[in-house]
Formats: sequence, C-alpha cells, structure tokens
Amino acid sequence: MASSNRQWLLKKRPQGMVTLDDFEYVENTIPKANLDAGELLVKNLYFSFDPAMRGWMDDEPSYLPPAALNQPMRATSVAQVIESGNPDIAKGSLVQGMFGWQDYAISKPTDLIPTTPLPDGTPPTMALSIFGGTSFTAYFGLLHIGQPAAGETVLVSGAAGATGSVVAQIAKIKGCRVIAVAGGAEKCQWLKDDCNIDDVIDYKQDDIEKKLSELCPDGIDIFFDNVGGDILEAGIEHIAEKGRIVLCGQIAGYNNDQPQPGPKNLMHIITRRVRMEGFIMIDFIDQLEAAMNDLVTWVMEGKITYREDIQQGFENIPTTFLRLFSGQNTGKQLLKLAEPE
Ligand code: NAP
Repeated sequence: MASSNRQWLLKKRPQGMVTLDDFEYVENTIPKANLDAGELLVKNLYFSFDPAMRGWMDDEPSYLPPAALNQPMRATSVAQVIESGNPDIAKGSLVQGMFGWQDYAISKPTDLIPTTPLPDGTPPTMALSIFGGTSFTAYFGLLHIGQPAAGETVLVSGAAGATGSVVAQIAKIKGCRVIAVAGGAEKCQWLKDDCNIDDVIDYKQDDIEKKLSELCPDGIDIFFDNVGGDILEAGIEHIAEKGRIVLCGQIAGYNNDQPQPGPKNLMHIITRRVRMEGFIMIDFIDQLEAAMNDLVTWVMEGKITYREDIQQGFENIPTTFLRLFSGQNTGKQLLKLAEPE
C-alpha cells in the first residue's frame, strides 16, 4: 500500500468555464475505516468523468447537494476493497461508488450513493462505460420517456458520446430511422460506419436547420437532446405533431456564467401537441436489472458498439475532466489509475 493518499480537491466554484485552477493537488494520510461500523477502505482503479460533475461544482440545489469545497472532487469510480467491515463485500472485491478524486476512500453504509459490488467477471471499464450509468440513461430516457415505435424518426444530439451513441443504437434496434448530431468528421463517420446510423449532421460544419429540413421533411417524432441551446431550438423547429422531446442534458450551457436564453420557438410545443419531459437516470434505479439484461444481450449480439476513451495517471485527472467540454473525448471518458491486484 502507498504511504500517502493523493487527492484533487475542489478548491473553488468555477465562474463560467471550469479551469484547472478550480482544483488543488494535495497529499494526505490514508484514511482508516471503522470496520465495526460496516465501513470499507477502498483503492480507486478507474474514474468515470461525467458532464453532470460540472453542475455539482456550483452552489446550486439539484438532485444531489453541491460537491463540498476543499474535499476530493465527487466522482464515480471502480475501486478495490482493501479492508472490509461489511460481511457482504469481501476484501479484494471490485466495487463501484462515488469515492472521489483520491487514491483511497472510506465507503460508509450511510453514503448518499451506496457502494455496489461489480457483477462477477465484469471488466472495470465496462462497468463504467457500456454497462454503466450513461447506458442506463440512454435506455430509460429513450424507452420510458421517448417511447419509440418502429418506423418513427429519432433525432439524437451529443450522439457520438457515451449516452448519445447508445440512444442512437437502441433506437435502431427498435426499428426507428435515426439522425445523429455530433461534432467533427471522425465522430460522424464512426456513427455511420460502426453504429449503423442512417444520417449524421456535423454541427460544427453543417447548417443544422437546413440539414434537418432536407433529412426530415415530415418532422422528427422523438428528439433525445443531450446538448440544449441552439441544437435544442433546431430540434423543436422540426418536431412533428405528437412528437416527444426527451431532455437528458444541456452540456452546451454547463459552463455559462449566465443562464442561456430559452428556445424562442416553444409555441411549437403547444400547436403541435408535443410532450417535452426531463428525467434523471436514478429515478429508474429499481429497474436496473431488466435494463442490464437487455444491454448485455444487445452488446453480445453485436447490436450495440461502444468506445472507451481511457486516459492515464493521477496528475491528469482535472485535464481529463475538461476534455468533455471541448469534445475531445471519443466515447465514454475514463481514467486509469491501476489494475486490480
Ligand atoms: P459524452 O456525450 O460522452 O461527452 C460529452 C460530449 O458533449 C462531448 O464529447 C461533445 O461531443 C459534446 N459537447 C460538449 N460541449 C458541447 C457543446 N457546447 N455543444 C454541443 N456538444 C457539446 O458525455 P455523457 O456522459 O454521455 O453525457 C451526455 C449528456 O447527457 C450530458 O448533457 C449529460 O449531462 C447528460 N446526462 C444526463 C443524465 C440524466 O440522468 N439526465 C445522465 C447522464 C448524462 P461533440 O464532439 O459531439 O461536440
């Protein structure tokens, strides 16, 4: 075991775009678990990076309390149990939880997000990528909120990312025609060639309004939006009568210091009788098993493909987080610290 615990603390709340200065590197003593109280001492192996973490950095009420200042930045990871006071979680086993940007963490039975063991044999990266929270988000958001029917047209923004790429492929599995919006030629090519998506729009090159007019003259039945801003407005412009807009995320505005203006065309929601609904994945936590069964089947049948973007090294944690907001990540953004022992 190492002699100290490396940590990246949330030093200050970002003003606008998150910067490296918002975090501070420190070394601390390795914490001690109170085994009598059912605690675990865990060692982080792989971190997940999620756009929602940017929202946790603000001092705003949300579905989770703000991340605490001067504490390791809140983050999901896969870790290995070093000491266990929980008879159901053996020493040496792999677990997932919100253990924060540090080498070692204490998991308590009272934690807001409970620590869960990885299903036997699941590779740590897959537990955070294709069998992790972003895929469940895609599954529940599309199937429960979007409610696709075969033959419908589905528009997905942020489509080359961890959530969007799974949405697009589940929509194909359900017999829909899928139009994907992503940034850059490489991501658009991957969506066409590997994910079998019908049409792609490169929002960094194309006139998205013009493209949507050409590609869906009869309108969009379901718009799964990960981005917000101008892309949301363009999707609303082309939504069909009785369409559904699934509000999953608004990454285009997460680093704005002022709230972005609302879409100017909301009247279409009324005149076209559209349902626009937001959701948070954890609302469906009691249905994870059914979703996991479907995801495993589709991946094994080759109907869903995915990409992991695995950075390395504790020193690179904050820069890896920033990659999400410039579109540098190709697929689920992860960072590797160590392999299980
Ligand atoms: P991701 O899509 O793997 O990575 C983020 C991607 O967002 C980037 O690669 C980039 O792709 C795109 N992006 C960044 N800034 C942008 C901008 N200004 N305009 C347009 N696109 C931009 O991340 P993810 O974890 O799957 O999350 C995707 C969305 O889902 C986020 O909005 C997130 O908050 C949301 N989410 C919601 C829930 C929920 O429960 N509701 C759960 C998980 C995630 P390009 O290269 O294509 O620009």
